[in-house]
Order: sequence, then structure tokens, then C-alpha cells
Amino acid sequence: MNIKEEQITILDLTIDVVKKDIKNMHLSVYPPTGRVRIAAPVDLNDEAIRLYAIGKLRWIKKHQKSFYEQLRETPREYITGESHYFDGKRYLLNVVERYGKHEIKIKNKTYLELYVKPNTTIASKEKVFNDWYRSHLKTVVPDILKYWEDKTGESCEIWDIKKMKTKWGSCSIEKRKILLNLELAKKPRHCLEYIIVHELTHFIERNHNDNFKALLSNFMPNWKSYKRELNSLPI
Ligand SMILES: [Zn+2]
Repeated sequence: MNIKEEQITILDLTIDVVKKDIKNMHLSVYPPTGRVRIAAPVDLNDEAIRLYAIGKLRWIKKHQKSFYEQLRETPREYITGESHYFDGKRYLLNVVERYGKHEIKIKNKTYLELYVKPNTTIASKEKVFNDWYRSHLKTVVPDILKYWEDKTGESCEIWDIKKMKTKWGSCSIEKRKILLNLELAKKPRHCLEYIIVHELTHFIERNHNDNFKALLSNFMPNWKSYKRELNSLPI
């Protein structure tokens, strides 16, 4: 079977396009992240696919919104036995109640031990986690950023960490500022690197066009697989 894979971008939406031996176009939106995929006949031109996608934009957005809302409806409880991700690895949570400092420790490469006072609220436990994720990023990002600033020849003046619902990162080209999603602390290190390289590349090319992709491929040949990995992981 003849299969061709590519991507198109419409506004802030990236769509995976798979061309294969079929007669009609078919569009799917996948949970949990709302990834969009169009299957199209091999000989169909990109403009026709683009027009088809534009016609479906409202439908796509509606489905993506419902996935985001579903994710928000299953909040963490921060109880023993729950799974939590850190630095690309899954850990089992073990809540230890004791008086003293709130903190998290990794034990036997398997457990995250959350030390909290008795009767600590879920919101406070969540804050312990978020502070821990933030301090992890504050620790690892400077070296990664320095490495990729040298590689790309672009400098980042300021960077910060933010909780964002729909983006892994963003940048201000004018201020040479990069914002990273706090969630990246949970993801594999190469995914964090990909977002940093992606944002640095925007300092050279504002849009997600062919030039942007060529620059990315030059800096980080595997960026497409990292991007796919990031969008397929649980949030
Ligand atoms: Zn971008």
C-alpha cells in the first residue's frame, strides 16, 4: 500500500495528513490531547485537503474542547497508589503523613513519597507537586537552554514556567522570552528539549512554515517523533 505522511497547519492547529489508497477523505480527532488526523486519497492535492479541514474547523474545535474538559473532570486526589509522572517516568505515589516540611522524595526509582502533615488538603498537596515540578525545571532548563542557544545561534533573554492548558510552550520574539508549560516536568527530557528548540527557532522564523521546519530538522533531526510523542502522552 502506498502511504505518505505529512502535516498541514491552519492557524494554531497542526493536522497529521496520511495519504493512502482510499477514495474519500476522513477526519478524526483523538483523545486525550485532541490530535487531528486526516486520511486522504494519494493523488489529492494539499489545497483540497486544506479547504476540507477549514470547513471542519468548528467540528474539530468542539471535539478538542470536550477532550480537554474530560481531562479536567478527572482531577488527581494525591492518595497512595496513584500514578504520577516525573521526568518521563511513571511513579507510584506513597503519601506519608508526618509533622514537618512538606516535600517529595523519589524512593527505589519506583515511588514518589509525598511527606505532608495530617489532614493536608488536596489543593495543598497539588501545590507541593507543582512547586517540586517547578524547581526541577528551574534546575535542568538553564543547561539545556545554553546548549541550544549555542547550536541555534539565538539567545533567549528571559524564560519562565507557566501552567498552560493547550500549549507546551510559547514565545515573545520581540522580548526574546520563552514560556514553558509546567507539565513538561512530567515529560521525557527530549520532549522538553524539543519545545525549547522549537521556541528558539521562532526567533529566526515566526511562522510554522517550510523554512521553520527545515531549520528545526537541521537543529534537531528527530523533532517530528518528539512532537508526536509529546502529543500522544497523557496530560
Ligand atoms: Zn511554534
